[in-house]
Amino acid sequence: MAKIEIDKEFCKSCGLCVKECPKQIIQIGRTVNSKGYNVAEQTDESQCIGCKLCAIVCPDMAITVYK
Ligand code: SF4
Ligand code: SF4
Repeated sequence: MAKIEIDKEFCKSCGLCVKECPKQIIQIGRTVNSKGYNVAEQTDESQCIGCKLCAIVCPDMAITVYK
């Protein structure tokens, strides 16, 4: 099963990964990082297909995908 990890401190809350995920399983969550940005989070890990689109689109390289 695929899995993603989002580095909270790198996320700038731009929402690109949210738009790009074909499974629509990423959202901007309530957790705020030390720079004051609400951090993206995955909502349903079981649906992740490991396509890496979220990682590719992230301008801050905050997402790592494990397959
Ligand atoms: S790897 Fe693909 S399916 Fe999984 S969270 Fe990222 S964009 Fe969505
Ligand atoms: S694309 Fe990267 S910086 Fe933008 S919300 Fe997603 S994880 Fe955060």
